Amino acid sequence: MTHQFPALSPEQKKALADIAQRIVASGKGILAADESVGTMGNRLQRINVENTEENRRAFREILFSSDTSINQSIGGVILFHETLYQKDSSGKPFPAIIKEKGIVVGIKLDKGTAPLAGTNGETTIQGLDGLAERCAQYKKDGVDFGKWRAVLKISSTTPSQLAIQENANTLARYASICQQHGLVPIVEPEVLPDGDHDLQRCQYVTEKVLAAVYKALNDHHVYLEGTLLKPNMVTAGHSCSKKYTPQDVAIATVTTLLRTVPAAVPGICFLSGGQSEEEASLNLNAMNQCPLPKPWKLTFSYGRALQASALAAWLGKNENKKAAQEAFRKRAQINSLACRGQYVQSGKNDAAATQSLFTASYTY
Ligand code: 13P
Repeated sequence: MTHQFPALSPEQKKALADIAQRIVASGKGILAADESVGTMGNRLQRINVENTEENRRAFREILFSSDTSINQSIGGVILFHETLYQKDSSGKPFPAIIKEKGIVVGIKLDKGTAPLAGTNGETTIQGLDGLAERCAQYKKDGVDFGKWRAVLKISSTTPSQLAIQENANTLARYASICQQHGLVPIVEPEVLPDGDHDLQRCQYVTEKVLAAVYKALNDHHVYLEGTLLKPNMVTAGHSCSKKYTPQDVAIATVTTLLRTVPAAVPGICFLSGGQSEEEASLNLNAMNQCPLPKPWKLTFSYGRALQASALAAWLGKNENKKAAQEAFRKRAQINSLACRGQYVQSGKNDAAATQSLFTASYTY
């Protein structure tokens, strides 16, 4: 076997590790605000707001122009291409507003799923062509990390070995290209919550998927200290009749991670995957309280579970801006406490925080 040829200089490695550490510094997680135009349209439709560029911009402005203290709970924000080049009402570019608060700017880099012929509806992810050029341009435009979401499904016939290998390899190739251009790759192999499988089946599949991802990252010489993982939590399928507690989810998830994710990875930032805001916070809190070793930061990179209450408070009306910002601040703070295992539920929660955010076969 040959040795590894140099891929990154010590300076490049340090820069990547520093970015990753800043994003997951104690008590901090990620706001995933990188919904594609179509996905954002679904969100806006739920509150009867038209899916126009201006409405998408206006909602994102509410999130990004929160008080600077939001930087105590948010270390990174993931943007969609359109949003990266939008401005606030006073004409200031969004990336500048985010960076001013000391928050790291990220970008969605994958271009969505494509079918894997000969499988039972499984997919791979597109976006590798031209990725190096896009990364170089985004870095110049102020971006310091990327996200790539691969999707695996649980059924009696899936995930297939082909889907596991293909998605692991594509994630590793993306991660390698990101690092060459100074972007920390968020590696996201999402095992979807669709189905009636139990917790143990999800654990089995998630272990197989993560083991394949870390083998591929190693094969591609990816520098793990300069990466972040964004996995699903290990939960039962959405239509499983058996109910599990946050403690059950925590033990199953942390056990899975201990078996598959090297301790060199600085942070694991969970997606919320259709859980309600409150469920996602309670599960994260239970993980940080559970009595297993945790060599990485366990934090959040939530989309739906950080925005549902804010959207419900906003309703597309300018006069509701402050209320929406307050809802976002409150949820971010709860998740910050959950990253430290310090969240104590305080009795009453509004409807938006407890409603399921599940969508079948979720696309982003
Ligand atoms: P959810 O938290 O809404 O699952 O989405 C996070 C995300 O970024 C998916 O790629």
